[in-house]
Amino acid sequence: MVPKAPRALELDVLDLQISFRDSGGGTLRIVDLPHWHLGAGSFAVITGPSGAGKSTLLYALAGLISSDSGAIRWGGTNISHLGERARDRFRRHHFGFVFQDFHLIQEMSPLDNALLPAWFENFRAPADLRDRAQALLEQFAVPTARRRVLDLSRGEQQRVALARALLFDPPIILADEPTASLDEAASSRILDDLSELAASAGRTIIAVSHDPRLIERAPVRLHMEHGHMAAAGAVQV
Ligand code: ADP
Ligand code: MG
Repeated sequence: MVPKAPRALELDVLDLQISFRDSGGGTLRIVDLPHWHLGAGSFAVITGPSGAGKSTLLYALAGLISSDSGAIRWGGTNISHLGERARDRFRRHHFGFVFQDFHLIQEMSPLDNALLPAWFENFRAPADLRDRAQALLEQFAVPTARRRVLDLSRGEQQRVALARALLFDPPIILADEPTASLDEAASSRILDDLSELAASAGRTIIAVSHDPRLIERAPVRLHMEHGHMAAAGAVQV
């Protein structure tokens, strides 16, 4: 049950279109990507104004929302072609999500929060996964004796979220403005942790961020505006 070392996956997006209904009953095209390739093991950051479609794209990449048309292929698996159960399972084992506001359950302990992904597969997390969650929390210096994450600092909460994202050792980490609600010291730590993950073999990281320190560390820099994506910055892979 303890995961194997992650295998790098490349991403190919083809003719991806995502629309939402507006309040007037019309449709709004939020994401429109004719073609996007990201090499296996890349560390990419996406910048762009609010409302550009960055979060929508991130959710679609993990199969959390469906597209109107087009393909999202992770290492040859087109996630839009998977049935609901297969997609849920693919998601749990391939993606770790980190959000700006952590998405933790405040009344639960750090360990139980880190074990949340296991709950969807088992009524009770097997001992080896509990050990792994505990080790990840310790690696990120989370005070694991606290009963509720409510009592942790924001920086510690984000590190619980990072431990949760890594429970199944996923080859892909998706982070939506992971440092935006943290103070200087706490975001520095998360940046170090993300950079370390990016440096480890076989891990693809896509982060949406405006944090100059994160942008500086990411070798692939992309910019999104009105649902379209363009390269940004000097360094490209
Ligand atoms: P960003 O993350 O770049 O700020 P989002 O992807 O969150 O942008 O949103 C892009 C646009 O899509 C926004 O105008 C937002 O209001 C709209 N939007 C996002 N989710 C939905 C939804 N579920 N239904 C309708 N409109 C949505
Ligand atoms: Mg967003």
